[in-house]
Amino acid sequence: MITTSARAVFSPEGSFQLTTIERRDLKPHDVLIEIKYAGICHSDIHTARGDWGPVNYPLVPGHEIAGIVTQVGSEVTKYAVGDRVGVGCMVDSCRECVNCQRGEEQYCLSGNTGTYAAIDRYGQYTQGGYSTHIVVTEDFVVRIPDGMELDVAAPLLCAGITTYSPLRHWGAAPGKKIAVVGFGGLGHMAVKLAHAMGAEVTVLSQSLKKKEDGLRLGADHYYATSDPETFKKLAGSFDLIINTVSAKIDINAYLSLLALDGTLVNVGAPAEPLPVQVFSLIPQRRSFAGSMIGGIRETQEMLDFCAEHNIAPEIEVIAAKQIDEAWERVLASDVRYRFVIDIRTMENE
Ligand code: NAP
Ligand code: ZN
Ligand code: ZN
Repeated sequence: MITTSARAVFSPEGSFQLTTIERRDLKPHDVLIEIKYAGICHSDIHTARGDWGPVNYPLVPGHEIAGIVTQVGSEVTKYAVGDRVGVGCMVDSCRECVNCQRGEEQYCLSGNTGTYAAIDRYGQYTQGGYSTHIVVTEDFVVRIPDGMELDVAAPLLCAGITTYSPLRHWGAAPGKKIAVVGFGGLGHMAVKLAHAMGAEVTVLSQSLKKKEDGLRLGADHYYATSDPETFKKLAGSFDLIINTVSAKIDINAYLSLLALDGTLVNVGAPAEPLPVQVFSLIPQRRSFAGSMIGGIRETQEMLDFCAEHNIAPEIEVIAAKQIDEAWERVLASDVRYRFVIDIRTMENE
């Protein structure tokens, strides 16, 4: 076993403590990654706090991982020591089902293996990237393009792919009107990516506090959802709405903003249901959909797209001892726009 330092929570409401966890010894297709940066995703908080159901503790979150390969198993062909690599939300899947075969491992019919809070094929409880090292099978590792810094690469592994995938699937392109609800980690990536794909982008945020940033980062329009006029003015306008909000919102109000045949894709994953009135959908043949991260091949495509278009998240790099504080700021919608942990500070008190 490989002993690594990590930051873990020991209960749903507990704060982070420095601890050690064991990573498996390398199997023939495994790589050992020295983690350099780990992004903080709102899903880390939902999971640790039990929003989506009970989990085991201690829990080491983190599924936006960027680092360097420091050791490879005997049969690894894709990576070599020294390679700059990333790991996102999953570390394995069955690889045989129809969805895995299509490269949509996130929708594996046996369930993908989450980077943390899952049981892997060896029966071990997975632990995430708020740690110094991780062992992952090479097929679930992606290459970070040359010239892309590791700190900005990290958030792309979840926030990037989770917004890229539905934008591609629902055809973000010139001539399409797209709204992004919630301007946080996922939301700001959705704006940058949709803009780069040529769409006309509107941000729907709770207030106008971040309007200047929104327009600077690629939005064409920015509205406050606290203003009822917004819903009147924008009724029936959008081909696609990406909802990134982490809390319950009145989804029917947002569905009313879709044009004929428009789709609202929920990537936000609040604990509570979002009740839909059928008459929010029927009159304009609207769709309400969901989307989960993206496959490994598409994750690599997204990284290459970001490198090509010079797209990087706006990040605030923090020390490991500041994770609790960062989580509180995420919960207060006070993140601009992704916290990234500098893993070199893991053991500093
Ligand atoms: P985040 O950085 O906290 O952003 C969420 C944004 O939602 C906030 O910045 C805020 O934007 C808005 N918001 C928060 N509370 C709100 C409320 N009560 N009412 C209205 N708006 C509110 O979170 P994130 O990391 O981007 O994650 C967003 C959600 O996506 C989480 O639920 C996460 O679990 C989920 N997620 C899903 C997937 C997937 O595969 N589907 C992957 C990753 C994350 P404004 O300040 O602009 O209003
Ligand atoms: Zn995430
Ligand atoms: Zn599968």
